[in-house]
Amino acid sequence: MPKPSLSNPAAVRDGFVDAIGNTPLIALPKLSAAIGRTILGKAEFLNPGGSVKDRAARGIIEDFERRGLLAPGGTVVEGTAGNTGIGLALVGNARGYRTVIVMPDDQAAEKYGLLRTFGAELHVVAAVPFTNDANYYHAARRIAESIPGAVWSNQFENTANRAAHEATTGPEIIAQTGGELNAFVAAAGTGGTIAGVGLALKAYDPSIAVVLADPYGSALFSYVKTGELATEGDSNAEGIGIKRITANFDGAPVDDALRVDDRTLVEMAHWLLRAEGLFVGGSAALNVAAAARYARTLPSDSVVVTVLCDGGERYRSRLYDDDWLRENDVVPFAQDLAFL
Ligand code: PMP
Repeated sequence: MPKPSLSNPAAVRDGFVDAIGNTPLIALPKLSAAIGRTILGKAEFLNPGGSVKDRAARGIIEDFERRGLLAPGGTVVEGTAGNTGIGLALVGNARGYRTVIVMPDDQAAEKYGLLRTFGAELHVVAAVPFTNDANYYHAARRIAESIPGAVWSNQFENTANRAAHEATTGPEIIAQTGGELNAFVAAAGTGGTIAGVGLALKAYDPSIAVVLADPYGSALFSYVKTGELATEGDSNAEGIGIKRITANFDGAPVDDALRVDDRTLVEMAHWLLRAEGLFVGGSAALNVAAAARYARTLPSDSVVVTVLCDGGERYRSRLYDDDWLRENDVVPFAQDLAFL
């Protein structure tokens, strides 16, 4: 491919796919000052498709290409809460693949709209439990099987997902902190982020704690604490929380877990916007809350890294909408960090 002749070609990313990753690590100065520990957020909302899942999308598609299963004109099928579909659709457009995306019908409206705008073929199915054959995950597999030559991305069981984080997100965090971090805190949707980053960090320094941040309604908090999958309560958080052990989560080197409720998530999202100028989605807010709570259990000069998974634009009709907040009884009221 001809390269543009620019004065500093090393500073130029070669197309959409090459623009994924190498996101900034952003210190949260007001939060860090308030709790007396340094909290750093990996700004995944600055990926070109707007979320941490751009990395998984690239990793999964390049793995299919390497194995000779996908060539230009091919079709990629995925079941997703939205962000993986968005990443796949954009990587697909850049590489010449058609994308067929299956989503449950309980996600923020913005994500369906983006997928349609990006040209993905979108199938919206009823949000039913994984054990029901009509669940979006099984629907995606059936659609992939019905299209000749199509590949099923299968982000939950396809470990090219976590390998992408082990190869990129983890090493970036080590380089950006000079390896000077005490803990990494992240929620799991497929487990790709926490497992991949966790493996990279543990290989570098086994004393770095890897901590799961879990919403209510997910079974992973119980799994980390007791070895048993069990759920309690519920959550409106999108893209995170699992009730089963996926291949991507399996074997993740997780030392501890914290559970964060939706009220805390909403308070943190609005506080981050007001106090730090950071407009992020719910999983990012949950991650920051969990990172701060975990950091408070560590010595006062500790450094904790977490993930700002995606931006707030995607959730303006929910997390940042007064009516939705009222209907869900989570109108934020704290002006300071008292909720933490
Ligand atoms: N936050 C959001 C908004 C997501 O869409 C996802 C992926 N479903 C995650 C966090 C979790 O990432 P992972 O799949 O790597 O566990």
